[in-house]
Amino acid sequence: MERIAIVGLGLIGGSLGLDLTRQGHPVVGIARRVETAKAALAMGAATEAGTDLALVAGAEVVFICTPIDAVVATAEAIAPYLSAGAVVTDVASVKGELVPAIEAMWPDFVGGHPMAGKAEAGLAVAEMGLFQDRPYVLTPTAATNSAALERVRAIAASLGANLCQCHPDQHDRAVAWISHLPVMVSSSLILACQGEADPAILALAQTLASSGFQDTSRVGGGVPELGTLMARHNRAALLDALTQYQQQLEWIRNAIANEDWDALHDALSQSQTARPAYIKSA
Ligand code: NAP
Repeated sequence: MERIAIVGLGLIGGSLGLDLTRQGHPVVGIARRVETAKAALAMGAATEAGTDLALVAGAEVVFICTPIDAVVATAEAIAPYLSAGAVVTDVASVKGELVPAIEAMWPDFVGGHPMAGKAEAGLAVAEMGLFQDRPYVLTPTAATNSAALERVRAIAASLGANLCQCHPDQHDRAVAWISHLPVMVSSSLILACQGEADPAILALAQTLASSGFQDTSRVGGGVPELGTLMARHNRAALLDALTQYQQQLEWIRNAIANEDWDALHDALSQSQTARPAYIKSA
């Protein structure tokens, strides 16, 4: 068993804590607010908890699970308390700017991103088994210590996650397509519907909305803070993806405007064929 510290006890940090304590690891949870630390202890997401960053002392592996814009500052703040040889990892949804900054201050750092989430945030929605059968990306660089990488890899595998490895910049370009673009598209879908000028039609649309709208609007109905942070910290890759998306949408619009039903059918056939490669259960 390894002594693990989790800094930031929200959805992701709390869910990690639930799995790791269940496995029998001693888990020190460190929250910003004392109520969160108490709640983590009460629900079994940590075996010891508090708000003092010095609690990371003695931990063999430290997970930084604070919001994207607080990750580098968290690494900086815990560095003075870390034990020599402690392996530090994070779970942030962007990697390109974070990984070089943290590995410059702590040599045994491994960037990570479990691809599991929910529409809600916070410890109250943390869940055991959240990472089961989900991709978990590790983003080592030329500077990454291979023993540290192995330690994080073993813990991620113990969560039942499907491990994958790539460079931080490749990660950011890939998640722009499958995570950050969908949030913007889904939000735009909801807001476009809200643009319906006739209140009776809008109310009828809301009444008729069923599984198709539920699927396509889900990520647009998520936590605004997370979507904004994704865009701020993965701006270039997201802008490229949005440009490509705009062109695709324009192409579809033209096909419909020109009544080019064969072209539209071809496009829909192509997307039908392409989808299973993204959706493992399809
Ligand atoms: P969350 O539920 O909002 O939890 C964030 C936690 O960090 C809370 O415990 C909060 O503490 C603490 N915190 C907030 N601001 C802080 C600050 N300025 N300094 C220190 N601690 C702070 O967030 P989350 O969804 O778990 O996301 C955490 C990380 O996981 C992010 O880096 C995100 O990119 C990544 N991630 C998220 C998802 C997702 O879908 N949500 C998926 C994969 C990865 P208090 O409760 O004590 O205030």
